[in-house]
Amino acid sequence: MTSESRTAVQPLVHGPQQPGELLLRDVHVLDPRAGLDARRDVRVRGGLIAELGEPRALEGDGEQGVVEGEGRLTLMPAFFDPHVHLRTPGQEHRETLQTGTRAAAAGGYCAVLAMPNTDPVLDAAPLLRSLRDAAAREACISVGFLPAITRGLRGEQLTEMAELRQEGAIGFTDDGRGVQSAGMLCKALQYQRLCGGVLALHEEDETLTHGGSMNEGVVSAALGLSGIPTVSESTMVARDAALAGYEGGRVHFQHLSCAASVDALAQARARGFRVSGEVAPHHLLLTEQDVRGMDTRMKMHPPLATEDDRQALIRGLREGVIECVATDHAPHARDEKEVPFEQAPMGTTGSETAFAALYSGLVLRGVLELGLLVERMTAGARLFELPTPLIGTGEPANMTLVDLDAVWVAGEHGWESRSENCCFAGRALRGRVLLTLSDGAVVYRERAFAMAAL
Ligand SMILES: [Zn+2]
Ligand SMILES: [Zn+2]
Repeated sequence: MTSESRTAVQPLVHGPQQPGELLLRDVHVLDPRAGLDARRDVRVRGGLIAELGEPRALEGDGEQGVVEGEGRLTLMPAFFDPHVHLRTPGQEHRETLQTGTRAAAAGGYCAVLAMPNTDPVLDAAPLLRSLRDAAAREACISVGFLPAITRGLRGEQLTEMAELRQEGAIGFTDDGRGVQSAGMLCKALQYQRLCGGVLALHEEDETLTHGGSMNEGVVSAALGLSGIPTVSESTMVARDAALAGYEGGRVHFQHLSCAASVDALAQARARGFRVSGEVAPHHLLLTEQDVRGMDTRMKMHPPLATEDDRQALIRGLREGVIECVATDHAPHARDEKEVPFEQAPMGTTGSETAFAALYSGLVLRGVLELGLLVERMTAGARLFELPTPLIGTGEPANMTLVDLDAVWVAGEHGWESRSENCCFAGRALRGRVLLTLSDGAVVYRERAFAMAAL
């Protein structure tokens, strides 16, 4: 076997939604990969994009729904999120398969990859099987699972990676913790050679971060909070890139948060190592200055860093050193977050705001082109060896319809997520997802958005 070996089952689990028939008339289709940036009619049938025509060229043909875009609404490939926490099993008071995937659909996503730091930890085949069965019944969009690299995320013993791959594991991660031992990661890379599956790495040297609750720097000093130095991440990125190179393995760096990590990733890439990286909207848009109000929604893992770090992350994303955006959607219950800053758990929700926050904060400010943002919000699929959502005749209908002019206040009408710990809550954002299609099924429709004959 080689790392090309496939899982025995389909890696992405589809929810129970049935594909519908839909005509989107005169929408602005934007898909940089397909070379599309023009007004088109789009017919969806049998789960696929059945027809692409000139604007107002296609006639309704018994469709259940017709959208009149009037050249004003934008149709993009639906987004792919390689990093969400669905909190199932064991923490359903924070999120469930149903609410977490519904939140993602509301954000324009057609697929997400779920992290294993649940209770119990997703570290064995029977639990993966039952989660996949539950997702087939309850999920609103496609879900893939990344089981743990080490049992119980304890960093001491590898999981049965080959068996997990056979059961549909897309890759492996100890997210929530870093793999502390270089030897343990080398072993995982050796097993990867036999069974495939990307190793996704939360990079953190725990001997440098213990007890910290925000970035170490002027703000932590001013607030009297214990700090987490950015080297706790960047030194591990450098170490693990070197190990991946040594073993000839494939690693993906999760939620990169600082300039030094971008440098380490760029150097590893230049050496020809098989490495990739993701960045979260909050690290692209916020800094440690946003922690000054001690709002626990601003407490993330890794923490918000400096403006220089933020600029380096934007540059990394623009230049392709960082290949994709991932939300690290991390729901926490209200009472868990309504405690003093030091005691609050780390994490922000992000599925429902990612596109609008990045469109408002980067695209409208001329920092990033819209086409590039769309590319980076879909690229996670390819990094995990899955098909990338693409707008073209015969492709699965994974698309999101957006009103780029609509202004809305994040959270003003509540959330689809079970939790509300969103760092962008209360902000006026521009760009509203109206409709999301996952394999031809309408998995989300904004409540005020009406379609004819539906
Ligand atoms: Zn993490
Ligand atoms: Zn995470």
